[in-house]
Amino acid sequence: MARMSVGLRLTIWYSAVLLVALALFGFLTWIALDHWLMRGVDERLAQKVQGMRTVLEVEGVTDRHVLQQELSEFAEEVPDGRLIQIRDSRGLLVPGANEPFFPASLMAVQTEYRTMSWRGRAFRVFTKPIEYQGETYATLVATPLEDVRAVIRDFRNLLLAMVPCVLIVACLGGYWISRRALAPVDEITRVARSISVQNLSKRLIVPQTGDELQRMSETWNQVLERLETAVKRIRRFTADASHELRTPVAMIRATAELALRRDRDPEHYRKSLREIEHEAERMSELTASMLTLARADSEEVDLPLQQMDLNALVEELVHQNARLAEAKGIRLRAELTGKPAVAAANEAGIRRLLLILIDNALKYTPAGGSVTVMTSESSGGISLSVRDSGEGIQAEALPHIFERFYRADEARSRNGGAGLGLSIAQMIAHAHRSRIEVESTPGTGSCFHLTLQA
Ligand code: ADP
Repeated sequence: MARMSVGLRLTIWYSAVLLVALALFGFLTWIALDHWLMRGVDERLAQKVQGMRTVLEVEGVTDRHVLQQELSEFAEEVPDGRLIQIRDSRGLLVPGANEPFFPASLMAVQTEYRTMSWRGRAFRVFTKPIEYQGETYATLVATPLEDVRAVIRDFRNLLLAMVPCVLIVACLGGYWISRRALAPVDEITRVARSISVQNLSKRLIVPQTGDELQRMSETWNQVLERLETAVKRIRRFTADASHELRTPVAMIRATAELALRRDRDPEHYRKSLREIEHEAERMSELTASMLTLARADSEEVDLPLQQMDLNALVEELVHQNARLAEAKGIRLRAELTGKPAVAAANEAGIRRLLLILIDNALKYTPAGGSVTVMTSESSGGISLSVRDSGEGIQAEALPHIFERFYRADEARSRNGGAGLGLSIAQMIAHAHRSRIEVESTPGTGSCFHLTLQA
């Protein structure tokens, strides 16, 4: 089927409905007019018969000749009087001497209205017997229907002429209105077509009409907003990832090239290979982290949760990191609830999350400081906190530390991680329907905490 615009389709539907409505309206008014006019005709015919009865009653029936005369006068006075016929048992009274217009057979002895054609013309004929003083007078009154028919015909012609005119005006008006109403749709389509991944910052025009179109444009703009943010994030991730990978790759290349430039002693080669190994390790860690985040982006992270004692896990991790802390001159300890801290958690996930937080705390706390991993009961669950007495985080950096590849102190980036640790930790917290919160005072220390549901 040929493609039709909404405006045209609306107009066609609207015109079809209007045509049916107009046809129905015309037909019904035509029928009603016919009915009313005929009823008027019938009433006037009945009045004439009533008039004849009055003449009968006034004149009495003593003298048939006088009665005949009075009735003839009555017939002469009323309109269409020559179409009045009346007879008694002795014969015709009106029209006396003249030939009656309608055949005598029509003068039935029952009350009856009929529409008939006689001598090439249409008539409404009313016959009614009048009983008076033992005598039955058969009456017939009639009126030609030309006038009534002419009115009905004129009315029908008027309708036939008016309906197409009204229909044309309404169709043109309807089409114009629908075009006007839908004009913003064309505009929105035009702008939407021009939007691609290259210019996602473009927005649809929002018609200030307070209607569906305005709501549609606003909703699409919100969709574009979200898309733009997502695309920006992906772009930044890709750019940051390649940037992060470039450094270890360059280091590996440079170290290898330097070592191969001339013959060297075995110790030199060993040193170079250790450096290469170190950089390769960094690269594997980085790619593993990136893979974790990329997976989390592409599919819903579904970590199976089970009831577990967080105290036991914290104790294990503190014990595991004790040596490293000691080597750095940091006091690492656990501060646990008296009874088992049971919550719904994914063991591997929470282990990784805590390791990231403990690793950061140890990384950003100078020698002589302390790091405390705590469990405590909170409303509806168990709170996990990692508090350190380290350098703290500047207020302007605080909102960004969970962003990918963000490092508050770029200068130290080679020593620290790639800035993915907290992103992964937050992603794990989200998979537990929780969120890591941070409080930090520069120079005093930081505290990262989250609550797991029991
Ligand atoms: P990184 O691998 O660089 O540690 P993270 O995502 O784990 O990346 O952390 C992002 C940034 O947040 C870090 O570069 C650091 O500046 C800051 N940060 C995280 N934890 C701490 C902490 N305990 N004390 C001070 N700064 C921290």
